[in-house]
Amino acid sequence: MTSTLKGIAASDGIAIAKAYMLVDPDLSFDKKTITDVDAESARLEKALDASKAELKLIKEKAAENLGDEEAEVFEAHLTILSDPELIGNIEDKIKNDKVNAEQATKEVTDNFITMFESMTDNAYMQERAADIRDVTKRVMSHLLGVDLPNPALIDSEVVIVAHDLTPSDTAQLDRRYVKGFITDIGGRTSHSAIMSRTLEIPAIVGSEKATSSAKAGDMLIIDGLEGDAIIDPSDDQVKEYQQKAADFKAQKAEWDKLKDEKTVSKDGVHFDLAANIGTPDDLQGVIDNGGEAVGLFRSEFLYMNASELPTEDEQFEAYKKAVEGMNGKQVVVRTMDIGGDKELPYLPLPEEMNPFLGYRAIRISLDRTDLFRTQLRALLRASAFGKLAIMFPMIATVAEFKKARAIYDDERQKMVDAGEKVGDIQVGMMMEIPAAAIIADKLAKYVDFFSIGTNDLIQYSFAADRGNEKVSYLYQPYNPSLLRLIKRTIDASHAEGKWTGMCGEMAGDQTAVPILMGLGLDEFSMSATSILKTRSLMKKLDTNDMKKLAERAVTDAETNDDVIKMVNEAVGK
Ligand code: PEP
Ligand code: MG
Repeated sequence: MTSTLKGIAASDGIAIAKAYMLVDPDLSFDKKTITDVDAESARLEKALDASKAELKLIKEKAAENLGDEEAEVFEAHLTILSDPELIGNIEDKIKNDKVNAEQATKEVTDNFITMFESMTDNAYMQERAADIRDVTKRVMSHLLGVDLPNPALIDSEVVIVAHDLTPSDTAQLDRRYVKGFITDIGGRTSHSAIMSRTLEIPAIVGSEKATSSAKAGDMLIIDGLEGDAIIDPSDDQVKEYQQKAADFKAQKAEWDKLKDEKTVSKDGVHFDLAANIGTPDDLQGVIDNGGEAVGLFRSEFLYMNASELPTEDEQFEAYKKAVEGMNGKQVVVRTMDIGGDKELPYLPLPEEMNPFLGYRAIRISLDRTDLFRTQLRALLRASAFGKLAIMFPMIATVAEFKKARAIYDDERQKMVDAGEKVGDIQVGMMMEIPAAAIIADKLAKYVDFFSIGTNDLIQYSFAADRGNEKVSYLYQPYNPSLLRLIKRTIDASHAEGKWTGMCGEMAGDQTAVPILMGLGLDEFSMSATSILKTRSLMKKLDTNDMKKLAERAVTDAETNDDVIKMVNEAVGK
């Protein structure tokens, strides 16, 4: 029966395909005493063999579709399944304790996991614990006869339905088959949503009920423009959305014509339209969408996509590839922004009550200066190959910026003294903490530029978790309080002859763009897929009108809705 779901529109486009449930199945079981040890051992044997066969297939597919590195994790899982100590212990438990294979497997693997996890200073062992947990799930699924989702094995068009998607889940999705996705949780600026825009996959997040409403194989329509999903649609609805998809395609073709044009307003003022990337692999999207620079390279993805800390050389290669790929256009690399919802399995961080307010980003870099210096050296080396800029994430105080900058200056000096070639690098900071925005006039003396990270600046200003759909009504980009912080930042930078960009998702938000033009924002950095529609919008707007609009929004408006109304009137919506 047809039913509808409403969520947050996360990535433009329409998808119509069968649902693929990326949901952990129920693996609960009862402990049983057994009498026939041989039969129980044979059940275990069968489940192990089936798990191995499945993993071999997944490994092959992953190597084929995603590359050898992504496939390696499955090799590690196969090794665990052949570990004589682990498997021997499970077999012994069945024999000696006369328990069912499920119970024996759980008890033994739990012991190994606890042992490895207790080695908190050994990242390798911590990772093995995670691997054993994954492998145990697979064996259990075979013992219990339930299906485990295997996204790497998807070989027909689907819409993924999940509670949430981690950045690594998203990275494993094969674009040829994954036509869209819908999640229960998350907001427009959660990382799953940002990734969906980078990958150009229509997506809805924060629907609350997707996993409890859809079943595997249900036909699903995802409208990533409006945030609407339809489960089991009627023929008429399918037709309606096929038309909508065709209209969207035609609109995109119109925007595509602006690919090689500069971004200028109706009255001839130029703005830089840049793109945000996670890895150098995203560069093609930037070029295809006519990006004039990279305004944010989220370097932490280099760390998150690896199984151990990337070396200086590995990082150097990635940064070099990015600046060379942009062919003289600027690439702003943000130093590692780990913490919050971005974890590294091999760099265990302390459990925290409020990870978004805790040990993260520049706070880690200033504490673990060994990691920070390695990254800075890689960046300095890459600067010889193109136009590179560096910015620090989550700066809250002048002292933090000065400390980070001093470490950078020290590494730079060492390289210059050693006769190594380094380029001219601008060093700036992300403006994403209200305390920093308020003191922007002081910070402006030390930075070369600001880049406003509205994804975090909004969550910290309104004390509303950016990934929590329950408080998403407080995620108010147009609220005059936020606009005042933005204006303060831009004005402070201009007073010192510096520039301000914005790399939060707001930079590509079609309601925010007119105001930001009026506030004098210099650079707009967004998901590459938003660039052309923003260029198209900017061409129609006059900066003098937008200045008046911005002035009214900052001084006269009381609420987010007041500002939306003002913008709609000004741009003639
Ligand atoms: C931001 O906070 O706006 C930002 C661009 O960084 P991230 O989304 O990676 O936190
Ligand atoms: Mg941020």
